[in-house]
Amino acid sequence: MSVRVIVTMMLAGLLLGLPAFSVAQDTNESVVVHVVQRGETMYRIAQNYNVTVEAIASFNSIADPTNIQVGQRLLIPTNGETRSEVPATHVVQAGETLKSIATLYGLTVDELANRNSITNIDRIFVGQVLNIRASSPATPSPIPTVESTVTGETSGDAPSLIYTVQGGDTLFRIATRYGLTVNDLVRANNVTDPTVIYLGQQLIIPGVKPLQSALDLPPNVSNIVVTPTMFVEGQTGEIRLTTAVPMTVNGTFLARNLSVASDQSRTLDIILVGIPVFTDAGVYPLALSLTDGAGQVTPLDLNIQVLAGGYGRESITLSSNLADLVDPNLEASELQKMQAITSNFTPSRYFDGPLSLPAAASISSPFGRKRSYDGGPYDHFHAGTDFAAAPGSSVMAAAPGYVVFADKLNVRGNVTIIDHGWGIYTVYCHQATQYVKVGDFVNTGTVIGTVGATGRVTGPHLHWEVWVNGVQVDPMQWVQQSFS
Ligand SMILES: [Zn+2]
Repeated sequence: MSVRVIVTMMLAGLLLGLPAFSVAQDTNESVVVHVVQRGETMYRIAQNYNVTVEAIASFNSIADPTNIQVGQRLLIPTNGETRSEVPATHVVQAGETLKSIATLYGLTVDELANRNSITNIDRIFVGQVLNIRASSPATPSPIPTVESTVTGETSGDAPSLIYTVQGGDTLFRIATRYGLTVNDLVRANNVTDPTVIYLGQQLIIPGVKPLQSALDLPPNVSNIVVTPTMFVEGQTGEIRLTTAVPMTVNGTFLARNLSVASDQSRTLDIILVGIPVFTDAGVYPLALSLTDGAGQVTPLDLNIQVLAGGYGRESITLSSNLADLVDPNLEASELQKMQAITSNFTPSRYFDGPLSLPAAASISSPFGRKRSYDGGPYDHFHAGTDFAAAPGSSVMAAAPGYVVFADKLNVRGNVTIIDHGWGIYTVYCHQATQYVKVGDFVNTGTVIGTVGATGRVTGPHLHWEVWVNGVQVDPMQWVQQSFS
């Protein structure tokens, strides 16, 4: 079967100078990407697209059609009805307003608001999927949500095109099509094995800008990119703001002050945002204020959606001699101490690229699981990643930085905390011995201590935490992704 993703529609316009046959084929079949929304079932999605549940299931290799997740991307094989000059949908980018999007598509704000049942035009949020076309009278059901092929890029200053891998594609072939190298794609997508790509995989095409964007930014603001477009509880998000003149940037999100890193020219500001676990899913305002050299203040407000992390749950039984360590006061005071240390913002950046693993061992417990201790409520969560490292084996620094804490705490046992700059800290817990002291500068891989079982543990292991401006986040995201 020869299929084309909706992306090819956009490519023809984008890739001026390239032969048309490399980007489009005559076919009346196409595939669209559908992002599962809250409350949707496979049956309803299939109905909306006028296809069968079986067709979607087999196209996406889904064994159990009753088990789909909110946010999951489904490839929908359609008969081409969704093809049109005007895209069915628009994904809201940071810096766009309902007015600028309406103008882009030749609509009035009221028309666009009506088509999306929007009552408050200031409440649109980054990543929101807007219906652009009016419902056809022949199909009374709402136009299905079709995700456009636009998304934020992990680095750089413009959103990039997303390409969905087709049958017969290789990274080399895709790279050639866009005038890129395989390495460009590998870097942009954190591909570990360039020979392994799969049907339906979505690849960021770095440097290729999407057609549709309707930025409506204040004067002197050149660009703002939010990555990912939807934040996730327990994960790290990034905001990159480019200004025409040097600006001092301040901001708040989730009732916390944001820490802002600037380059030397002060025209590129990078804000790393840790989303606390237990943040309720929803849309939250992110308020920035930009002050120029003359003291003129420009506000820049965004709405950001936060999704649930889906980390699961676990119940932990502690031996009786450790049970008193689940004392809430004791936990709170230790947490307060950690927060005080990790809320210090060092304007320099010592880390470069992704973090290294702190131990040569497999992961025994991932970050984020909601926890109950000894039958209590699930009001705790696993705030780090556990490594099943042998007692006495090496604990290694995950990135360069300064040791800012090396002491014993009740819950975490012997703890070393390293400041990597830009508000990023790594924390190494339950160590048997500690080799470094406060003030030492360590490099990636420096052995800072040995694995042990000090503090609140059920056995020897390394519990490793990453803090972003005073918030505990998923360390493995920092191993897989570069924030520098
Ligand atoms: Zn742990």
